[in-house]
Amino acid sequence: MSWWQTDETHDPARTSWVNSAQGHRDFPIQNLPFGLFSREGTAAHIGVAIGDSILDLSACADAGLVPETLADACRQDALNALMALPGQERVTLRRAISAMLSDPAKRPEVEPHLHAASACTLHLPARIGDYTDFYVGIHHANNIGRQFRPDNPLLPNYKFVPIGYHGRASSIRPSGVPLVRPRGQRKPPEADAPIFAPTARLDYELELGVWIGPGNALGTPIPIGEAAEHIAGFCLLNDWSARDFQAWEYQPLGPFLAKNFHTTISPWVVTAEAMAPFRKAQPPRPEGDPASLPYLTDPDDQAHGALGVTLEVTITTAAMRAQGLPPHRLSSGPASNMYWTVNQIVAHHASNGCNLTPGDLLGTGTISTPEREGFGSLMELSSGGKAPLTLPTGETRSFLEDGDALTLSAIASADGHVPIGFGPCSAIVLPAR
Ligand code: MN
Repeated sequence: MSWWQTDETHDPARTSWVNSAQGHRDFPIQNLPFGLFSREGTAAHIGVAIGDSILDLSACADAGLVPETLADACRQDALNALMALPGQERVTLRRAISAMLSDPAKRPEVEPHLHAASACTLHLPARIGDYTDFYVGIHHANNIGRQFRPDNPLLPNYKFVPIGYHGRASSIRPSGVPLVRPRGQRKPPEADAPIFAPTARLDYELELGVWIGPGNALGTPIPIGEAAEHIAGFCLLNDWSARDFQAWEYQPLGPFLAKNFHTTISPWVVTAEAMAPFRKAQPPRPEGDPASLPYLTDPDDQAHGALGVTLEVTITTAAMRAQGLPPHRLSSGPASNMYWTVNQIVAHHASNGCNLTPGDLLGTGTISTPEREGFGSLMELSSGGKAPLTLPTGETRSFLEDGDALTLSAIASADGHVPIGFGPCSAIVLPAR
């Protein structure tokens, strides 16, 4: 079965005996994302989100409820072994989980392994060996580039090379972990020399994360036609950025301390299998753009490689929470504004023989729409700080203040299918220490 083809697990008519799954915004039975959870006083187990509950996959393996050959991978304290499974085995596991959660006859056996999600803590799902961040959001690249080079926002390599940099895996945290405003070097515009101080231009970046499944051996590239087999799933990713540090430090080697102080991800891994109904054609390149080089070009990828996902960012400030105001939407838009597909960034990353390993994480880069409503960072929304936003309290923001809390969310949808969500990717900004 190809990576974009659906099976009975995607059937919109399929329902679960877990009542909260029906019509659940994020986790109906058609989703079944994997994560790592613990309950008070217990070790972390692999779990599956279903409605408002989490199914303990480790306990299911012990109870003989998953195929014997997959049981060991389900009993680990991280998802790396599950991610490393060939796609066909992950499909087998998904079918088994979908069957046990939909068949009422299985309920007595399975229900003891369900826990209320509200009583569980979610952890980083995998041991992330390496993290790489790309720059595939062409409207983001244009918007940022225009602030520096109004006549020539995109550099000449952009339409040939999926631009990326190696990020920092150690500072990635799951949703809910607060971030501390970083200190660093920045050079105020009028100053002759830099100062070392808390960032005054703290920003977020709305991105998708791509979890690597089976890896490749060092020296052995991943052909574009096989790249999808190496993707285990997806998450949301907030690439927190200190724009003042970034502007001062980035030449000539790119982002460093402006980006590596904290990265927030949504902790559920929405599997590549779950995303099958939401794959769509990559939008054609605008007239006059160069064709991608052959090693990045594959007809199936062009026909199915894009993601039918709508992204949203909301903010609450301390004052908003004190007044009981709901979160304020900063932006919303489709993920279709990626110049390169996720398969292309995987193939490109491995094209020189660089080895990717199960549980590696790739960020797409900030995804912005051409319209302001879908700008994926404050750097864009506030035009580099020149046009502050006004919030419902009357407060204004060019960049984030202490006490601000950001939430990224995503819904995958397609005609004739039950939409699925990614769960929240949230964090609050704490003062510099
Ligand atoms: Mn980024």
